[in-house]
Order: sequence, then structure tokens, then C-alpha cells
Amino acid sequence: MLNANREPPPPAAGRAGMKKDLPEHFKDYHHVWVFIELERGQVHPVSFELLGEGRKLADKLGVQLAGVVLGPPGEASWHAVAEAFAYDADLVYIVEAPLLGDYRNEPFTKAMTDLVNTYKPEILLLGATMRGRDLAGSVATTLLTGLTADCTELDVDPDGSLAATRPTFGGSLLCTIYTLNCRPQMATVRPRVMALPQRVEKPVGRIVELKLSMVEDEIVTKVLGFLPDAQSAKANLAYADVVIAGGLGLGGAENLQLVTKLARALGAEYGCSRPLVQKGWMPAERQIGQTGKTIRPKLYIAAGISGAIQHRVGVEGADLIVAINTNPNAPIFDFAHVGIATDAIRFLPALTEAFTRRLSPHSRDKLAS
Ligand SMILES: Cc1cc2nc3c(=O)[nH]c(=O)nc-3n(C[C@H](O)[C@H](O)[C@H](O)COP(=O)(O)OP(=O)(O)OC[C@H]3O[C@@H](n4cnc5c(N)ncnc54)[C@H](O)[C@@H]3O)c2cc1C
Repeated sequence: MLNANREPPPPAAGRAGMKKDLPEHFKDYHHVWVFIELERGQVHPVSFELLGEGRKLADKLGVQLAGVVLGPPGEASWHAVAEAFAYDADLVYIVEAPLLGDYRNEPFTKAMTDLVNTYKPEILLLGATMRGRDLAGSVATTLLTGLTADCTELDVDPDGSLAATRPTFGGSLLCTIYTLNCRPQMATVRPRVMALPQRVEKPVGRIVELKLSMVEDEIVTKVLGFLPDAQSAKANLAYADVVIAGGLGLGGAENLQLVTKLARALGAEYGCSRPLVQKGWMPAERQIGQTGKTIRPKLYIAAGISGAIQHRVGVEGADLIVAINTNPNAPIFDFAHVGIATDAIRFLPALTEAFTRRLSPHSRDKLAS
């Protein structure tokens, strides 16, 4: 299944030796499906990002794009259905059941695998969120099919196979993985790796409902209550418009306040490179990069970060990258839009002061007059 490195995938003929004929019972698997992740009434935006990617795959294959909503009976699930159409789904499959209120692996796996076995999609995409990862793994193992996790690129080969590309060997290589002889071909993608598509104005399309064939007694996991994670709710790096991050170049934990102060002045989120998490200077939820968060802000300021490939893959979707680094040959200058070769420990306070002055209501009045 492992195919290539940074080279584009070889043509289908190059894989002919590996490819057995698709078993007869998989030949009527068609269409691209996206799991619409619903949590406490909210659709996770990664579902819309995946509908955008799913649209491109479906158009290339000449098939339909479907959303899959699994949720409790009522308004929240139907809101998710409407949102799937607003992001260009052609149809939506829905399983509505009280057992699908709080996420539990067993009823969600049952609902999804029943849908797949009944309606037979050729591609199934899920967000690489906590829930999406949990569900994707159990759906793939139940259906005995292939799953490529944390993809950074999705495409279809001329022969119609899903080419799912993801980093490997610590991020130093990209490999393209195929699920050649099983269906559906499954992939997860982390939030913000794919761009958010435009909403479309179109009428609600076809809706297909399926009943959940499972009862509470068949479920081992019981929900006793819901405690929101106050810590993880605080950092919203993935969807922030402005992100300031610090790296080892800041020298010590005491200098992280230079990053947080600038973030406060700009109303931004703050984050860091991985070594700072490993040293215990920042919590893991603030790590940016391949094994942390992927961000797509309008502005990203990186201070004292070298720009290793594992960091780069998490930030290169930013509209404007400003790098502050003492070493003019640091790799981050290869992909930053603005490079400032200077000492971040001296530069950050000056930048914070300049922004604070410029953004204060008093100075805004002066600038306006
Ligand atoms: C499997 C795997 C997964 C990984 N995942 C991630 C990930 O998700 N995110 C991540 O970030 N890393 C990740 N890494 C680690 C990554 O390879 C790098 O080691 C890491 O990003 C380096 O962090 P850094 O840039 O802060 O430190 P360094 O590489 O030590 O760079 C520090 C930089 O600061 C500059 N500097 C020094 N003093 C100053 C100063 N006073 N002012 C300004 N600049 C200064 C230096 O010139 C240097 O460029 C991963 C590695 C592996 C193997």
C-alpha cells in the first residue's frame, strides 16, 4: 500500500502489478461521502473543509457528494443536514436516534457501517478530530478496509483510485497511500489542513434516512454526565485569524510572556514549537505543527523558530508569515513572506509597544483626525 515519496504518484499502470481486480462485490461502490461531525448542536468546521475536498474528488470521478449526519432526533441534526447542503452536498444520509446524542463508539460505528453496507460509497472522509479518529478506526476495522490517517492531500488517479498523501518518517517524506482492493477507501484529514470552501446558495437536495438497529443494552459504554474541558476550549489556535508563536530561540520559559503580551495586544492566539511543549513551558494544546495544531491564520508571527519541516507543515496555509530569527539562513526564511533577522527577545517588546500604541483608542482617534 505504501507507494512513493515526494514524487507525484506513478501512473496507474505503474501499480498494475500490485493491483488485483477489484472484487466483484465492490464494483457497485460509488460516490464520495463526508462525515458531518456534530457536537452539542455545532457542526465541526472540518466537515465543511472536507466537503470542499470531497466536491473536487466527486467532480473528478463524475459521482455525487454526500454528507453523513449521525445525531439525536431534532433540530441539531437537521441543522447539520442543512449545513451539508450549504457546503454543496448533493445528498445527505441521516441516522437520527437518541443513542446518537452523546458520542459513543459503538452506536456511531454501527450507524456508519450499516449506512456503508447499504448504500456503498467508494470514498469516505472524516475529520481527524478526537471523534473522527475514533470512529474512522473502528469503521475501517469493522468493514475490513484501508484507512489513511492525517492526510495532507487527496486526489484521484486516472484509474479512479483515491491517492491519499500524508507525511511519514517524522515528516521528512510524503507518501501516497492507496486502498486498491477494498471499499470504501477511507481517509482522515486534520482541521485546517484543507481550505474552507464558499457556502453555496442551493435548495436542499435528496435526504436518505436509515434507522439505527441497536438498543441501549447492546452498548457497553454508558454516559454518566458531560464535563466540558475548560482548558481545551480556551485555545482555539486552528481557527484563529492571528497567531503568535515562540520557539527555542526565546531561550527560556520566562521569555514566553513576550509572545503572550504581543498576542494580547493583537487579540491573537499564541502557540509554540514542539520543544517548548516537551520542556513543559507550554501545554500540548498550544503546539503548532505536524504533531500539534494546523493553523491557517491571516497573520502568523514566529519568533525564535527555525522552521523545521514538521513545524512548516502546520503553518504554511497562513496568508502572511512573519519570521523573527537571528540566523539569516534559518529554514523559516525559505517560506516566510516577511523575514526579520534580529534578536526576538529585544524585538518582540518593541513590536508589542508599537502595536499597543497604534491600536489604542486614543491613537486611533489621532490617526483618524
Ligand atoms: C515525528 C516528529 C514530529 C514533530 N512534530 C513537530 C510539531 O508538531 N511542531 C514542531 O514545531 N516541531 C515538531 N517536531 C520537531 C521539529 O523537528 C524541530 O525540532 C522543532 O520544530 C524545532 O523547534 P524550534 O524551531 O523552536 O527550535 P530550534 O530548531 O532549536 O530553533 C531555534 C531557532 O531560534 C533561532 N534563535 C536563537 N536565538 C534567537 C533569538 N534571540 N531571537 C530570534 N531567533 C533566535 C535560531 O537561529 C533557531 O533557528 C517534530 C519532530 C519529529 C521527529
